[in-house]
Amino acid sequence: MIDHRLIGGLHVEAVRRAGLHAEVEPHVLFQTSTIGALLEGAFDGDVTFAELAEHGDLGLGTLNGLDGEMIALEGSFLRADADGAISVISPAAGTPFAVVVPFAPEIEFALEKELGHAEFVAALDARLAGHGASAAVRVDGRFGRVHARSVPRQERPYPTLAEAAKSQHVFDFTDVDGTLVGFRFPDHVDGVEITGWHLHFVDAARERGGHVLSCAPAGVRVQLDPSGELHMELPPGV
Ligand SMILES: [Zn+2]
Repeated sequence: MIDHRLIGGLHVEAVRRAGLHAEVEPHVLFQTSTIGALLEGAFDGDVTFAELAEHGDLGLGTLNGLDGEMIALEGSFLRADADGAISVISPAAGTPFAVVVPFAPEIEFALEKELGHAEFVAALDARLAGHGASAAVRVDGRFGRVHARSVPRQERPYPTLAEAAKSQHVFDFTDVDGTLVGFRFPDHVDGVEITGWHLHFVDAARERGGHVLSCAPAGVRVQLDPSGELHMELPPGV
């Protein structure tokens, strides 16, 4: 353990890879590296998807080389390529940035009406009031629209994330059944995590998906798993 902090109600603990042990404690978020390191172009991590699976069954992130968007759902680790096509990730593949949790939802509700993105996340925030700073979410159902993106694999020497994002592909799924997974993190962990809501989508056929830029749910079931505990694995140099 190299750090031990309490940040805005979210307890953050960091370890090196050698200090990792399998932990399947419900509600404990597990993250590899930091969003700050990813922003600076640290696109190769030292944790495999087999190891990531020991820390959670729901989550999101990316693959080494920034090779697409990752969606973890019910223990399956899926990759959306630059055009949003889904494939299953090899357990031996590595990740430079990922967040997972052993998903154990404590709040469940339905949103029946079609909502814009801002209304949707406001509804999630309203249900989380008084439940702590962070949460994992799973949303299943119909979406009038999902506006998403993915990124093509980057070559060394790696650019910054902002530079790499210029080659991102943006696409829309309309009138689609599927699942959103993701997290909310507080402003206090800026640099460690993407603050606010970070959501990834996969369709019901597990054929198309990506990082969500905005969405319009139109009849969905929401499950929320509030958390006050984040364990981080920091690769060398981070
Ligand atoms: Zn993302």
